[in-house]
Parts: sequence; structure tokens; C-alpha cells
Amino acid sequence: MTDRVEVESKHAPPLAECAHCEHMLPPGLGERECEVCGAICKVSHEPTIDALIEEKVPCPHCHTILVAGTDERPIELTCGACSGGFVLTEKVVKVEIDCPGCERTLRIRPKPGKRQLNCPACEAAFQVTF
Ligand SMILES: [Zn+2]
Ligand SMILES: [Zn+2]
Ligand SMILES: [Zn+2]
Repeated sequence: MTDRVEVESKHAPPLAECAHCEHMLPPGLGERECEVCGAICKVSHEPTIDALIEEKVPCPHCHTILVAGTDERPIELTCGACSGGFVLTEKVVKVEIDCPGCERTLRIRPKPGKRQLNCPACEAAFQVTF
């Protein structure tokens, strides 16, 4: 067997906020535990769920278009045309932040709570809170 092939999903729900402390919740759908205050919040987003179920992905082996058929990610899919398997993974959510020092846009994976960033262009350090 070769290594398992992964394809990143194109859809992800919008980032949700904790109903209690308004910090960002960990990305994803369903019950999410706020990493800042510990509250459990239910995240649901119909348009994203529909998009995930109907998501069309080309088989990485033979390029036949497959339909995911589920909103679960990661999910293992098997291609009906070539019997090749692959894993459709969760989309990695990134946000864009402008450096306050030089206007360069940084793309980062958001993490709940406070964190320090260092701009790679001007080396300014600044804090962001999600
Ligand atoms: Zn919270
Ligand atoms: Zn295939
Ligand atoms: Zn900068």
C-alpha cells in the first residue's frame, strides 16, 4: 500500500464565538468547548453542512468526481471508478491580520485566546485576541 492520500475540504463553517465570553471557539461543527472559559457551545451552520454533504472532490488517483455525501471530516472515501481510497480532511481555517507596523498581511491559524505574533517583515511583535 502507498501512503494514504489526503484531500483538503473546500468548505469550513465560519468561526464561531463563545456565547459566554465572546472568544473564538475551536473551529468545526457540533459541540465545541471554549478554551478560554470552558463553556460548551453548540455550533451549527446549515449552509456549510449542506456544502460539505454535496462537496464534489476529484479522485486524486483518476480524477473522477466524487460526492462526499456526509458532513463528517475527516472521512475516508473510496473511488467507484478506480477503487482508490483517500481521506477528505477538514479545511484548515486561516485568518488574515494586518501587521500594525508595516501593513503586511499575515495569514495565521487562529487559536482561541491571546497570542503573540511576530511580523516576519518588520519584526514587530504584537498581540492578537480571538
Ligand atoms: Zn468562553
Ligand atoms: Zn479514482
Ligand atoms: Zn510588519
